[in-house]
Amino acid sequence: MAPQPELLGIHHITAMCGDPQANVDFYCRVLGLRLVKVTINYDDPGTYHLYYGDGLGRPGSLFTTFPWPSSYRGTPGLGQVETVAYSVPRGAQGFWKERLTTKGIPFSANLNALNESVLSLTDPDGMSVEIIESAYDGRSAAAWDGLGDDVAIRGFHSAALASARPNESAIFLTDTLGFREIYNDGETIRFEVGEGGAGTFIDIIDRPGRDFGRMGGGTVHHIAFRTENDQVSENWRQVISANGRQVTPIVERNYFRSVYFREPGGVLYELATDPPGMTYNEPLEELGTSLMLPPWLEERREEIESVLPTFTSPTGVRFP
Ligand code: ZN
Repeated sequence: MAPQPELLGIHHITAMCGDPQANVDFYCRVLGLRLVKVTINYDDPGTYHLYYGDGLGRPGSLFTTFPWPSSYRGTPGLGQVETVAYSVPRGAQGFWKERLTTKGIPFSANLNALNESVLSLTDPDGMSVEIIESAYDGRSAAAWDGLGDDVAIRGFHSAALASARPNESAIFLTDTLGFREIYNDGETIRFEVGEGGAGTFIDIIDRPGRDFGRMGGGTVHHIAFRTENDQVSENWRQVISANGRQVTPIVERNYFRSVYFREPGGVLYELATDPPGMTYNEPLEELGTSLMLPPWLEERREEIESVLPTFTSPTGVRFP
């Protein structure tokens, strides 16, 4: 039995990528997201950690990447989030088709199993991205890059999991994490949590015979779900641990605090607190304009900057 309060939906999704410039150009100049934080991987300070989000950098819109310019490409497969789907308002697909065409990004348009209008494309590292028109998105828009609120990405729509054990993954979502199954055609099972709707959907895709994924550029490293605060995360930690899963202590990530655990199908999950958020150490208008280091790495700034590759942000800031 899940404790109250419930999880609030997707907090962020983190992937590996190659060239940081190509990554920034795609997520900002094609998808119209805002570069809301430039920091480094706290567990590997020679690597950037880039955050993209809506104009306010809200949880539920945060896609983050670890760029490894010389890294090999990964292979998507079992044990990973396979597709990252964004939500756009009803009627916005015409705009997005035109924008993708103008920017030379190949895509296909179709209806998915749940009869939603989907544009399918890949990011520069080959990761599967979808733009989905959703009638079930109660979020306000915080558009960026000159996009209108009537077309801009609202945040995530869903994430599709390629579980190695779909049945166990489904039971873990419902019985341990408190998700609700809302659709099941034998191949796709959709779940929602909290208030439900876009931004809370998780799809489990059952494709027998697939291979396990291999981590590398173009693959998702983990998906995080939102909690209100540390106490709620701690309560969930105990529930997950009581369910027999290894779970980390709460880890300080500056912009949120996190616990990590692997679900039964092999996908790495995280719970991340909404507070303090992206404005923890930069004012809203300056998000993503400076290389932010955690206090414990500030004294190594020169050394860290000397190994980070260069890229230019959409607002013209040259990093590092
Ligand atoms: Zn994370």
